[in-house]
Amino acid sequence: MKISFKKTYRFALISAFYISLFATALVMPLATILFNVSFKSILTFGVIFIFSIYIYSFIIIQYRAEHFIYRRVKKFYDDVSLLESSNLLSHPITTDMETLTREVKKFATDKKLEIEMLKVREEYRREFLGNVSHELKTPLFTVQGYLSTLIDGAMEDKTIRKKYLKRAEKGVERLIYIVEDLDMITKLEVGDLNLDFSDFDIVELIQNVFDLLEMKADKRKITLAFENDQIQPVFVHGDKDKIQQVIENLIVNSIKYGKEGGLTEVDVINLTKKKVLVRISDDGEGIEKQNIPRLFERFYRVNKSGSRSEGGSGLGLAIVKHIIEAHKEKIYAESEFGIGSEFSFTLKKVQQND
Ligand code: ADP
Repeated sequence: MKISFKKTYRFALISAFYISLFATALVMPLATILFNVSFKSILTFGVIFIFSIYIYSFIIIQYRAEHFIYRRVKKFYDDVSLLESSNLLSHPITTDMETLTREVKKFATDKKLEIEMLKVREEYRREFLGNVSHELKTPLFTVQGYLSTLIDGAMEDKTIRKKYLKRAEKGVERLIYIVEDLDMITKLEVGDLNLDFSDFDIVELIQNVFDLLEMKADKRKITLAFENDQIQPVFVHGDKDKIQQVIENLIVNSIKYGKEGGLTEVDVINLTKKKVLVRISDDGEGIEKQNIPRLFERFYRVNKSGSRSEGGSGLGLAIVKHIIEAHKEKIYAESEFGIGSEFSFTLKKVQQND
């Protein structure tokens, strides 16, 4: 941080004036009494005297005050470690208290902001840790419960053994799922995510996600389809894997919170010359208006107990938002309770030279 100090001479000028006035008023009558000389000589002496005293005291006061304040200001800055001492050395230090006050005020404001930021971060850390341990506890206790029951004798029964081991495995799968999401969100939040940009066909990518999630959707008899069945390839610019994750998370949610036998539709719309909008809509349970603004928060769930049984980590939408924002694009959520939800995000279109 570079501060420019304003040099002021007012203090030294006025002080020097008073000193020279006093000294001259004292010396002149004495000189008149002690040296029997003409009035003209006394006057000349007076002028030279007042002038020399004025210059001398001005220089001394200015120099001393600068150094006096310099030492203290430097110590002050050193103490509060606002600046490297060497940084200050290169600046002329001033007797101008106004500048110093302004600097101190600025320093105090900066520090206050810094403290507030640290407090927010501390709060975030505490909340994050609380949420993480809470998320991990449930599957961990499930696994522990099944394993303990097996050890305590249930192992002897072949069918129970298999059933409990399968349940324990499910718990471990869930743990892995949560840890993977946590890993992803941590990377995203520290800005450690290197996007690997390329041009790809978003329609093809969506079709791949449909294929990937077909079994999951079948379990709830949900149909995954394009809104427009004549949809043509649309080339976009982005990180293909990360965008796939976005689409996967949104479609998984539409299956989890969609109604049995319902429909999830995806559309790719030409928004402007440079942008497309990818829209994923379902006819599921919907979200109440007051919950919509909080959907993208980490660990936020509308229905705390209900959603947990669906196996989410509460991080899905937070991850989606981070990825879209890392692309410098926008994501929107709209929903009508009991009717359905719609999530959409923009992407950069590849300019076709035709
Ligand atoms: P989760 O792991 O709980 O699914 P998300 O971050 O993906 O976490 O979603 C947060 C919450 O938003 C969910 O718990 C759910 O209540 C709500 N939600 C997300 N998508 C939908 C949807 N398509 N329909 C209804 N509610 C949804």
